[in-house]
Amino acid sequence: MAKAFVIDVSRCSGCYNCQLACKDEYVGNEWTPYSKSQAQIGQFWLKVQDNVCGTMPKVKIHYIAKLCNHCRKAACMEACNHGAIYRREDGFIIIDPVKCKGCRDCQAACPYEAIYFNDELHIAQKCTGCAHLLDNGHTMPRCVEACPTDAMKFGEEEELKDWIEGASVMIPETGLLPRVYYRNIPGKFIAGTVYDPVKEEVIIGAKCRLNSGGKVWETMTDDFGDFWFKDLPVGLFDLVISAPGFEYKTFKNLKTAKDINLGDIPLEIIVEKSDNKKD
Ligand code: SF4
Ligand code: SF4
Ligand code: SF4
Repeated sequence: MAKAFVIDVSRCSGCYNCQLACKDEYVGNEWTPYSKSQAQIGQFWLKVQDNVCGTMPKVKIHYIAKLCNHCRKAACMEACNHGAIYRREDGFIIIDPVKCKGCRDCQAACPYEAIYFNDELHIAQKCTGCAHLLDNGHTMPRCVEACPTDAMKFGEEEELKDWIEGASVMIPETGLLPRVYYRNIPGKFIAGTVYDPVKEEVIIGAKCRLNSGGKVWETMTDDFGDFWFKDLPVGLFDLVISAPGFEYKTFKNLKTAKDINLGDIPLEIIVEKSDNKKD
């Protein structure tokens, strides 16, 4: 039965405990035939990536722990011409540190940049799934054990199916079928601050209406004049902002390929047109 990891991004606090635990397990420790000692510098078999989205002051940050995906169609394994990479019964992909010839073909083949090169030992290295621990009675890899927020789950893929349902994998278009799944990766956001340029004060309760292909999202500006549309899909959006006594403002074709901070948005006061004609 194959093992899998499920990482709930919404629970990750960015404490880096998993990254540190992995280093602690492998730097200076020889686990042949599973792995040789990891280089102290430049290697992170698990890397916590911080994603800063938006621009000041509308910024959100989330953290994603990345490691080898132990892919069902492992490109690294197919690329190795020395028979140094193999798949275990539990699904883990292992680089045999004795058979590895240091040609780096596997490193070039992995689209997830999960393989590192150890210059001193002249071998390719990566996450082993802590196979040496699991084979010796442990139930969890070091990284999972170290997570204080329960953001990482590990176990039989079948037993994790409720967690895996609705989860996504990194770069699914690679077609490599990863066994590391991610839940709750935040969508994109569109945000801004609405204000009255004459009074030089924010407008509270302005109506903000977002439309994409007929689907509508609505919100109001808060006590600071701010609005946020969160967890949006990637696409094109039209935004209309209106408030009583002000001209409405429209933004067309906002593209959420990345998060959008529209900054400070002035709404002009509606000027009553006076009839100047004289009889
Ligand atoms: S993530 Fe890269 S190194 Fe890991 S199994 Fe897939 S192709 Fe191989
Ligand atoms: S499973 Fe083990 S080797 Fe892989 S990232 Fe976690 S601690 Fe590191
Ligand atoms: S240990 Fe858990 S909470 Fe901390 S960075 Fe890793 S996944 Fe996130």
